[in-house]
Amino acid sequence: MSDCIFCKIANGEIPSELVYENEYIAAFNDINPSAPVHILVIPKRHCESLNELEDKNLMAELLFGVKEVTKKLGIKDYRTVINTGKGAGQEVFHIHLHIISGRPLKWPPG
Ligand code: AMP
Ligand code: ZN
Repeated sequence: MSDCIFCKIANGEIPSELVYENEYIAAFNDINPSAPVHILVIPKRHCESLNELEDKNLMAELLFGVKEVTKKLGIKDYRTVINTGKGAGQEVFHIHLHIISGRPLKWPPG
């Protein structure tokens, strides 16, 4: 998708603070962090949201990526969030998974 900000991050057109990448995914620091650790994990291939998901392997790569990222950074306690749809707070329509950590996280989140 030529006008997608996360596609541009994935292909290096827009700079990011990359913390991990492999053939399928990239992980970088959120530009507006809501916790001391706030990382976004994205597939390199464009998919708008869970509502448009067709490839099951894409989610497997994302979730395995979470393990790789947290292992690399030594993070053991963290929350993962996927916002789906405007009403749930999704602002960027390229599927992504938030990793949030480094402060007490209440549950339920509200
Ligand atoms: P969501 O609300 O789930 O769609 O999350 C989008 C996230 O992307 C927000 O937390 C933004 O702060 C973050 N974001 C937007 N643009 C950038 C960017 N260029 N680099 C890093 N994070 C970004
Ligand atoms: Zn995209």
